[in-house]
Amino acid sequence: MIFRRKKERIVKEVTILGAGYAGLRALRALQEKQGSFHITLVDQNDYHYEATCLHEVAAGTQPKEKITFPIKDVVKGSTTFIQDCVQAIDTEKQEITLANNAPLHYDYLIVSLGFRSETFGIPGAKEDALQMVNIETAEKIHQHILAMMAKYKETKDKNYLKLVVCGAGFTGIELVGSLVEARPRYAKIAGVQPEEIEIYCVEAAPSILPMFNDDLTNYCLSYLDKWQVKLMTGKAIKAIKPNTVVYQDGKEDTDLAELQAATIIWTTGVSGSEVITKSGFSERRGRVMVNEDLTDPNHANVYLIGDVSAVMDKESNRPYPTTAQIATKMGAHAGENILRQLAGQAPTPFTYQSQGSVASIGNTHAFGVVGKGSKPMKGYPASVVKKMIENKSLLELGGFKEVMAKGRFDLYH
Ligand SMILES: Cc1cc2nc3c(=O)[nH]c(=O)nc-3n(C[C@H](O)[C@H](O)[C@H](O)COP(=O)(O)OP(=O)(O)OC[C@H]3O[C@@H](n4cnc5c(N)ncnc54)[C@H](O)[C@@H]3O)c2cc1C
Repeated sequence: MIFRRKKERIVKEVTILGAGYAGLRALRALQEKQGSFHITLVDQNDYHYEATCLHEVAAGTQPKEKITFPIKDVVKGSTTFIQDCVQAIDTEKQEITLANNAPLHYDYLIVSLGFRSETFGIPGAKEDALQMVNIETAEKIHQHILAMMAKYKETKDKNYLKLVVCGAGFTGIELVGSLVEARPRYAKIAGVQPEEIEIYCVEAAPSILPMFNDDLTNYCLSYLDKWQVKLMTGKAIKAIKPNTVVYQDGKEDTDLAELQAATIIWTTGVSGSEVITKSGFSERRGRVMVNEDLTDPNHANVYLIGDVSAVMDKESNRPYPTTAQIATKMGAHAGENILRQLAGQAPTPFTYQSQGSVASIGNTHAFGVVGKGSKPMKGYPASVVKKMIENKSLLELGGFKEVMAKGRFDLYH
């Protein structure tokens, strides 16, 4: 599609798919400059959500309104926003198929469609466990937990009081922390003492959070222990059946045991959007190994950023972990590279230096490493840093208005 303005200037069409961390940061970079281009932003929702806080909505410790803001608040100038679901991308025709609107043509494309839950083909994981991938699924988890507590009150069946988190990675541990925080409220509904609500976390690896040093991991473990969380490491999940986790409990594949619970939440890992898989990109688990400038190896006008891309860390010789932090940096870089291409210049390579990572366990406890030197931090100071990171991200994507409305200022506890 070629748009012609009054002076017959040829206007290039820049399309951004996905208004998450990567997409909104790219939008900001592009909107900051004026030129012969028009931007179309597509998202299935009319709001942006902070995916890093989904566990809080799932546990019910934050309402969805606290971690969302309307996309229209950040759409400026002549940018068009289309609320629709992207079905597929045809990189040869330079066309995007949408569920409810006519196909879109692009000259430059930014694909930032984010993550989906990875079940690794484990039977029943998709059907019989609750997923936590967006606002809708996070709210579903919360409503489910409340309904199970009410059922316990009615039936006195203890399985209704059991909450199982599958996976003790960053997301699983953060979710466990929020469930612990919400436990007194659940207990009130069920009519029991908070400690009667049993929280399990089942993990295949022999230990948790290998990216942190022993001191930080032990800090986390000591709290899980204090909160009577039943951490089951070295237990590979083999199947999920209705209200049942089947796991390996011994050396042989056939040494199986079952854990019964009415709430089973799946957080073992993520892969990139299925649109990537369906659209014929050269991908693995929904992620494309992009060029140094973040473009698709086969198309210099297609950028893949955030959780749909893999960028090699030359130091470790492994791709960087997919995080909101790197997604935001990629967004800024992709936006700037398209501006360079529009000006007839070559795009530049993306460089990245992690600023660290901090995991929260509930609202008032956190631990992790911060700054370029990866300085270890735990407890109250780490929890303040975590909230400041979230506020900074909100400022970058939504501006001052959203920070004032949705920011985390409950720093003293
Ligand atoms: C509970 C949890 C805690 C986390 N904690 C941290 C943390 O502390 N620090 C950190 O750095 N990272 C964290 N992460 C990871 C981080 O959230 C992701 O890496 C990040 O969200 C990726 O950003 P993105 O822009 O690529 O995708 P997303 O944020 O997932 O955005 C994708 C966007 O695309 C839209 N979309 C998807 N499919 C379609 C479609 N077919 N059509 C139209 N629109 C579509 C979605 O609505 C969404 O707006 C956490 C993740 C989770 C789940």
